[in-house]
Amino acid sequence: ITKNLNEAFSAFRIGGKLTEKNIRDGLQQVRQALLEADVSYDVTKEFIDKVAEEAVGDKVLKSLDPTEQVVGIVYQELVNLMGPVDHSLAIKRNDVSVIMMVGLQGSGKTTTCGKLARLLKEQGHRPLLVAADLQRPAAIEQLRVIGEQIGVPVYSEDPKTSSPLKVCQNGVKQAKKTGDADIVILDTAGRLHVDDELMAELEAIDRKVRPDQALLVCDAMTGQDAVNSAKTFNEALEIDGVILSKMDGDTRGGAALSVKQVTGVPIKFIGVGEQLDRLEEFHPDRMASRIMGGGDLQTLMEKAQREFDADDMERQQQKMREGKFSLEDFRNQMRKVRSMGPMKEIMKMIPGMGGMLDAADNVDADKEMSRIEAIIGSMTMDERENPQKIDRNRRNRIAIGSGCDPTDVSQLLKQYDSIAGMMKGMAGGGMKDQWKAMRQ
Ligand code: GDP
Ligand code: MG
Repeated sequence: ITKNLNEAFSAFRIGGKLTEKNIRDGLQQVRQALLEADVSYDVTKEFIDKVAEEAVGDKVLKSLDPTEQVVGIVYQELVNLMGPVDHSLAIKRNDVSVIMMVGLQGSGKTTTCGKLARLLKEQGHRPLLVAADLQRPAAIEQLRVIGEQIGVPVYSEDPKTSSPLKVCQNGVKQAKKTGDADIVILDTAGRLHVDDELMAELEAIDRKVRPDQALLVCDAMTGQDAVNSAKTFNEALEIDGVILSKMDGDTRGGAALSVKQVTGVPIKFIGVGEQLDRLEEFHPDRMASRIMGGGDLQTLMEKAQREFDADDMERQQQKMREGKFSLEDFRNQMRKVRSMGPMKEIMKMIPGMGGMLDAADNVDADKEMSRIEAIIGSMTMDERENPQKIDRNRRNRIAIGSGCDPTDVSQLLKQYDSIAGMMKGMAGGGMKDQWKAMRQ
């Protein structure tokens, strides 16, 4: 999906100037990318309609950078589609809290019970796992092994004489009586498909044990099926949150995008591996940036807006047009870029750049910029404004002052000459264009 979306975004940029037709064509590709990621037709349609409503109009077309705006709108709508999320688990302060885990067979319930218990234990809680899956003979043993691995007790009863409801009731009773646990996690049974028997069993537990939190585990690999079963579970049980398991696998991402929209229930956690520490809080904004190319677009846009205020940019552009862009201006702009963070971090936030960086391993960008700063710093103000005055003598002095080689100084002056020339030719250009160039 990321690759497809990136293609869609480059479609927005084709031809330089953004027109309403460009936007519509680009959105058509975004639509295709979503459908290919196994997002349902309805969710996709609603999403595209919403983005189109905001993106097609004078406000965007007349803005400084329409492409940036459209990308921003898509990002924001992705975040809205998956959020907001409240990660809390309705844990009581002075009483035993009960979390009921439900889901289809094989979705990852038992594993996720272990992951959650481990997480809660790490936070200082004392969880108790309850083996309420009497459907499969090996289920109790599986939970026992997991409990042992993380040092969490497991409550179970003989499946021949007990029932799922009884195990849950007795498990909670024991936690309350002994005071050994403050959170009880119920590992219920699943079925291959949603059926009446399963729902009746879960509804009975829900009614009689009154869990504080019902969490549904869905297998992300099953795409739209996961979303459809989530809808059914929610209609019967009113679940509080979804845990999307197997997000580490080769999933197409569709389930993550659709769950909230289809069920109204947010994804609270994602499972990203079989190991018991592979559970993460789900953050719609992070997921959206991941989908849009691994970069943290939003942060970057905010930073850029903060650092380059419009007035200052206009002043710099005026200077450039007049050919008055000095080494001092050059240093100031470079400082602004650097104040946004380490070069490597900045580049990572630009979609598509992350990969390039890894390939080129361009870690020396910061060092290079520090060197340039030092050289300019060793010049007098007059030299910065009028670099043509720098002769061999002055050059050697600057080199000594900045701890560089005289050839480094010459090289910088040469670079400046070509940049200054380029800038003069760039009518109405400036930082904004450098910025665009960086993004491509
Ligand atoms: P249950 O039938 O719903 O209780 O599912 P299980 O907890 O037994 O898990 C079924 C299979 O999915 C097991 O092989 C787990 O190791 C695997 N599994 C669970 N969660 C994840 C996950 O987040 N990532 C991966 N790769 N595998 C998982
Ligand atoms: Mg299980």
